[in-house]
Amino acid sequence: MIHPAELIQRKRDGAELSADEIAELVLAYVHDEVPDYQMAAFCMAVYFQGLTPAETHALTEAMVRSGETIDLSPLGRKVVDKHSTGGVGDKTSIVLGPIVAACGVPFAKMSGRGLGHTGGTLDKLESIPGFRIELGSEQFLRQVRELGMAIIGQTADLVPADKRLYALRDVTATVDIIPLIASSIMSKKIAGGADAIVLDVKVGDGAFMKTPESARELAEAMIELGRRAGREVVCELTDMDQPLGRAVGNALEIRECVATLHGEGPPDLVELALGASAHLLAFSDLGVDADQGRTRAEEALASGAALDLYERWVRAQGGDPSLEVLPTAPVVEVVPAPEAGYVDAIAATGVGLAALHLGAGRATKEDEIDHAVGVVCLAKRGDQVENGQPLAEVHAREEHSARRGVAELQACYRIGPEAPEPRPIVLDVLT
Ligand code: URA
Repeated sequence: MIHPAELIQRKRDGAELSADEIAELVLAYVHDEVPDYQMAAFCMAVYFQGLTPAETHALTEAMVRSGETIDLSPLGRKVVDKHSTGGVGDKTSIVLGPIVAACGVPFAKMSGRGLGHTGGTLDKLESIPGFRIELGSEQFLRQVRELGMAIIGQTADLVPADKRLYALRDVTATVDIIPLIASSIMSKKIAGGADAIVLDVKVGDGAFMKTPESARELAEAMIELGRRAGREVVCELTDMDQPLGRAVGNALEIRECVATLHGEGPPDLVELALGASAHLLAFSDLGVDADQGRTRAEEALASGAALDLYERWVRAQGGDPSLEVLPTAPVVEVVPAPEAGYVDAIAATGVGLAALHLGAGRATKEDEIDHAVGVVCLAKRGDQVENGQPLAEVHAREEHSARRGVAELQACYRIGPEAPEPRPIVLDVLT
């Protein structure tokens, strides 16, 4: 039997724990044999001392073993998945899933909800009337086999240790620790069953990882965990210093996804979706490399095949893919440019928080989301604007929340006299 206080002390003093000790600690925590206060102290010790790669692997394995795992082998195909560490306006999976599936590669994804100022794929999908994010494992498999893709909510039994640990970390200032983030994300990806995973590590103001160095460290930790679990992983570091695309807010983002599948998407979102699709196709059993994958992804988008797949996917999960049924906000106000010049920066966290305050996200787990509200960033970094030209739209439920949203958005935009250096959306790719 482990003695939690002794493990906490050894970790606090910088010792390396054995795989068995870590596994016992995690499993005892899930079975209520270790209380929250001891686990919180352990996480804080990890915050200051870190975990070795072997310890991080042991933690990840124990988390995977804490619940059920999905077996995708009955599909008889190489299945791919994608995960983002979370950003503002990040709707990539909703565009990329149909592209990859339209190219004939099974895409099976379990997604999460929004957290703080970052939005969640499930919340966006639920703005489509009737869309069901809860499918049983059998239905999930059947849909991936017959249609080529499914995106669903994580089942309650998938990595319960992460659910408990994440909630604890959230309230004990122990979220932003690279080995704990890496094991949290990778345990869910490994339990989700895909053979190959593209990870999108967001970097910048609106992301958990504020610097390229910390993003690279997280990426390397996750690649190593994937390798140890026999999964192929590629990791893209992508810009989150400004929102991705233009729309931030659930139904507004679904509209942007549909526009993108019609070939009318914002350049950063299109580039991110095509680039990640190329990596996923290169991982697949189609026998193509990333360049050929990119060409196929572009063809699926240009031909309308991805749009057709999106519509069939939404119907398969009970939703109506037509845009008319999406909720709209009753009040729309524009944010005028305070002077002429170039958009130098758009604070992504500020935009995410403005959308949250309008009702597009949750301040607590229990909060209800207003799917109609949000922000549309009409001007993005590098755009030239005239004095008074609309920089953004605020979509609100009431006049007073719209006014507050306009003021918040005004504070997010920085206008300068010269065009800033262009920055690519994909900053680096690690394998
Ligand atoms: N996302 C996760 O799933 N887990 C973390 O710890 C941080 C971000």
